[in-house]
Amino acid sequence: MKEIAYEKIVEEVKTMCMESNYNLGEDVYSAFKQALQTERSETGKEVLTQLIDNADIAKAERVPMCQDTGTAVFMVEVGQDCHIAGGRLVDAINEGVEKGYGEGYLRNSMVYNPMNRKNTGNNTPAIVHIDLVEGEELTLHMTAKGGGAENMSALKMLKPSDGMEGVKEYILSIVKEAGPNACPPLVVGIGIGGNFERCAFLAKKSLFRPLGVRHEDPAVAELEMELMEQINRLGIGPQGMGGSTTALDVKVELESCHIAALPVAVNLNCHASRHQTIVMK
Ligand code: SF4
Repeated sequence: MKEIAYEKIVEEVKTMCMESNYNLGEDVYSAFKQALQTERSETGKEVLTQLIDNADIAKAERVPMCQDTGTAVFMVEVGQDCHIAGGRLVDAINEGVEKGYGEGYLRNSMVYNPMNRKNTGNNTPAIVHIDLVEGEELTLHMTAKGGGAENMSALKMLKPSDGMEGVKEYILSIVKEAGPNACPPLVVGIGIGGNFERCAFLAKKSLFRPLGVRHEDPAVAELEMELMEQINRLGIGPQGMGGSTTALDVKVELESCHIAALPVAVNLNCHASRHQTIVMK
């Protein structure tokens, strides 16, 4: 059995928190550049140019690309032949988040509970989803998820009779309603199926797939491309100032569901679509 030290996880998580906020991923950066070639509105082009400049400055000066440095969300794959030595995995992640946000001078955005609204002062707790997988590796996927885009996300339990047309209609209505408030250009994460809570998880999970990578099922990949086209015809544009780049990408994850159900979740991600992955062996 492979042993992975608690302290090593803390250090890796600390680095992920800082790097995700300073370095926009290559996939998102390339999507900005590509959108600059296709954007039809002059204002839209200007905004995209500013977003590219902003990402360059954040990287060069090692400052956060946005004042909202996000909720730290982790999707963790734990190999069943891997043992965390020296403490609990979730504690190691939270300690890493505390160090990363503290030492990296990143804004602390978490409150103890929604009733007292008192800031926890260290950006914990992180939201941690754990999956047990084969092997002896520990894989951490992390995103620093912006609050504005999260606020405009939604879930609805549709009826099976609403069909795929109802699903598409609902997704478009959520993006439309979000308008500029989710800080477009967006990455639109969609969950279809599962049950109430699983559907929201699927939408979040879809956002961890790098931009430009389509779903492996050709029918789902086609749905992603169709939705992308329809969303970009809404005219919301970069930062909601009009244009043909409302979404940089659309991701769909789907799973089996009850015969009586058709759950759909739309988890919006803003242009600061920050994600990091590390594999510990
Ligand atoms: S939603 Fe995203 S771009 Fe908008 S303020 Fe939050 S992190 Fe920044």
